[in-house]
Amino acid sequence: MRQPLTIPLHPAASPARLPVNGKRFHIWTIGCQMNEADSSKIAATLQEAGYVSTQNEREADVVILNSCVVRQAAEDKVAGKLNSLFQLKRDRPDVSLVLTGCMVTNQHARLRERFPHVDLFFDPSDFGQLEQIAPEISSLSDDLDQLPHYYADGATGNSSISAFIPIIYGCNFLCSYCIVPYRRGKERSRPLTSVVTEVERLVDSGVREITLLGQTVNAYGHDLPGDVGLAELLRAVDAVPGLDRLRFLTSHPKYMSDEIIDAMAGLRSVCEHMNLPVQAGDNDVLRRMRRTYTRDYWLDRIDRTRRSMPDATIATDVIVGFPGETEAQFLQTRDLLERARCDKVHLAMYSPRPGTLSARWHDDIPAEEKRRRHQELEKLQERIQTEIHASKLGETFEVLVEGNAKGRWTGRTRGNTLLHFADARNVSGQVVPVCVTETSPWFLIGEPAPAFAPA
Ligand code: SF4
Repeated sequence: MRQPLTIPLHPAASPARLPVNGKRFHIWTIGCQMNEADSSKIAATLQEAGYVSTQNEREADVVILNSCVVRQAAEDKVAGKLNSLFQLKRDRPDVSLVLTGCMVTNQHARLRERFPHVDLFFDPSDFGQLEQIAPEISSLSDDLDQLPHYYADGATGNSSISAFIPIIYGCNFLCSYCIVPYRRGKERSRPLTSVVTEVERLVDSGVREITLLGQTVNAYGHDLPGDVGLAELLRAVDAVPGLDRLRFLTSHPKYMSDEIIDAMAGLRSVCEHMNLPVQAGDNDVLRRMRRTYTRDYWLDRIDRTRRSMPDATIATDVIVGFPGETEAQFLQTRDLLERARCDKVHLAMYSPRPGTLSARWHDDIPAEEKRRRHQELEKLQERIQTEIHASKLGETFEVLVEGNAKGRWTGRTRGNTLLHFADARNVSGQVVPVCVTETSPWFLIGEPAPAFAPA
């Protein structure tokens, strides 16, 4: 789970902005990139309405918490944060406290009882509700969807290089362990033109890398009229002049079509990186997870991707200790990871989320055993990543520089591998060819190609 973020604003100006009204807002965010993008949209909307951002919640007029419930730890963190704001509300009754995100959907009455000091609860992406605490928003636009998602990458503190744009909300799957469909609703795709306009605006303001977001991003367009899908959207966004890199997250294996893979392979800006969660390597576990595919199907999608893009990097997600997972079934997952040799694996130990189907089943794998399985896969993956990275020694990669820490520049390759290098020149935000001189399982270290001259 990522640490909570406070969202800086993108510097792009908007002609619709109202004069500064002297009020300040503070946003605290936890959870996935969809939440971060929603927070950026809220920040941009309030900024357009004349509010100013502050990093200090104690001096804010409006404090917004954007919550996550995918794991119990995230929900506990939000509850702790809400309790800590009780004193602020007592000292300054005029401050508006707002809670949004997955914790809110279908839970308004229960939350109002539990956290009476909160002024407004609103469902994820229901931005119009903000008018209740910021009436100035009503003068901006009839359609808040038309306002931008100015996303600044809070994780790196960099405000102008990378942007995340939601293209589809909700999820039509019902994986037995997942709370998302109950909190985010059915899939709703944004119109293609609205996404492209937003990309153009961001690129004009200096953004070089866009990540298109959705819980099932490759289901994009299924609910739109006409023959629109992710492949069409990738083609349309790739055509925006000045965009260097295009990525998308998170895909569902069932919708990873040949057409999307071919579009990835053929388009200049689309990075050769696929994030395709498998969750388990045993067909019976996959069936009980309700993932709607088999291990062979997932392996086939990975093979197909590598045939079209031999240098493609692959990331996946795995859950260990799902109810009823036997040792033999766990070993199937281990075997799958051995075969697939992914560049990155996000590992999680199963924990039941109330309200989901699997939460009704006996959580029969003891915590100690879940930890053992987790550690075994962690060790396996560390070995695989050590080998993969070692094979890159001496190769040169294009690195989009995101920031500088401890005297070293940091960025990512097109394959999304972290690469650090030293250079006395200012190369922030630039694409630098870097030759790999050292490797570790988690990142690469290198030096700029001798011929490189910063722009
Ligand atoms: S595809 Fe499954 S795991 Fe992913 S958001 Fe939808 S229900 Fe949850």
